Amino acid sequence: MTEKKVPIKKAQLEEIIKEFPTPFHLYAEEEIRKNVRRLQAAFSWAPQFKEHFAVKATPNPYILKILREEGCGADCSSLAELIIAEKTGMKGDDIVLTSNVTPFEEYQKARELGAIINIDDISHIPYLEKHAGFSELLSFRYNPGPLRKGGNAIIGEPEEAKYGLTREQIFEAYKTARQKGVCRFGIHTMVISNELDGNYFIETAKMMFDLVVDLYRTLDVRIEYVNLGGGIGIPYRPEEEDVDLELVGKGIKKAYEEKIVANGLHPLKIAMESGRMITGPCGYLVATVLHKKEIYKNYIGLDACMANLMRPAIYGAYHHITVMGKEDWPRDYTYDVTGSLCENNDKFAINRELPKIDIGDLVVIHDTGAHGHAMGFNYNGKLRSAELLLKPDGSVEMIRRAETMDDYFSTLDFSWL
Ligand SMILES: *Cc1c(COP(=O)(O)O)cnc(C)c1O
Repeated sequence: MTEKKVPIKKAQLEEIIKEFPTPFHLYAEEEIRKNVRRLQAAFSWAPQFKEHFAVKATPNPYILKILREEGCGADCSSLAELIIAEKTGMKGDDIVLTSNVTPFEEYQKARELGAIINIDDISHIPYLEKHAGFSELLSFRYNPGPLRKGGNAIIGEPEEAKYGLTREQIFEAYKTARQKGVCRFGIHTMVISNELDGNYFIETAKMMFDLVVDLYRTLDVRIEYVNLGGGIGIPYRPEEEDVDLELVGKGIKKAYEEKIVANGLHPLKIAMESGRMITGPCGYLVATVLHKKEIYKNYIGLDACMANLMRPAIYGAYHHITVMGKEDWPRDYTYDVTGSLCENNDKFAINRELPKIDIGDLVVIHDTGAHGHAMGFNYNGKLRSAELLLKPDGSVEMIRRAETMDDYFSTLDFSWL
């Protein structure tokens, strides 16, 4: 069980709303720091463990700054994300570029920053060489395809994923890179998303350690850095549990000793690029009930919509909902909680048992700190909301203002009309 609690009281939220009208995402700084520390503690045994926060989850410099203070780097997958990392003061191997279908501008920017470039396809070796040149250190993204076995229907099928190089290509890639003068090597994989079973991360680490040993034996390539990607899940549902990171850390340590240390390949750096587990549970989408509608079903209409949080609409994802001030009321009403888009999938919850809701109630949607605001869009001319930071001392700072109509219209020219 995971307790779904809002980190502030209703009265304080009402004060905040006087200054910052709903909807907005609120991020709890202290929770973010706690999550990073939990991850780092699980890998405290590893030589120079580094978490490169997946910027796409919450691309906001204030969040990145907090994470940088905690010793994190950034995992970027676009030019904009590289720029955010740069502006936050990160450089060199703090930054990893793990993108795919990569335009050369991203490679050039990554080279300018001295970032670690993690190549997604073998054809990008000459592409990178032509447009940006190689740095000393190069990393490749591995896609094990059908080789990733172990009874894991949950993992999905890596052979259906567009990412990474095949096993055969991986060997070819290191050989080619070495011929071209690259002398330091990393390797990366990401085969899981939102996974709550810690064993899958241990299995992935084992697979990667074996590959590191194989590359050393067959090519004499010494990998100095293994990046295990992200994909650590979070308990969106109250009946789910956090991933047992301590168990994951211990399991990976054991594999490290059996495979890396035993083969004389210690020290090998371990990195991760978690996004969701760091900020996901620390974000709260706060909205006000605008309308109630009773037809064939009962609807609660919010001033937030799918433009503020897409996950329920596109993945059918569950996000817990708290009605402020009614936490202890019986959940004896069943509602669909919706936004205002002209799209019937614009629903935050379907057939959700909730306390009786009234117009004007404050509704908090949980676990919106990752892939929430970041996935926002402007369909129907809906504006992206503000982002607020709840600091450890209880004060609130606006870390992104809400879009205005002027922002929305800024790419159109009305002057000729
Ligand atoms: C999205 C992504 C991540 C982060 O995934 P989470 O599920 O948020 O941990 C890490 N690495 C890459 C390459 C990604 O695309």
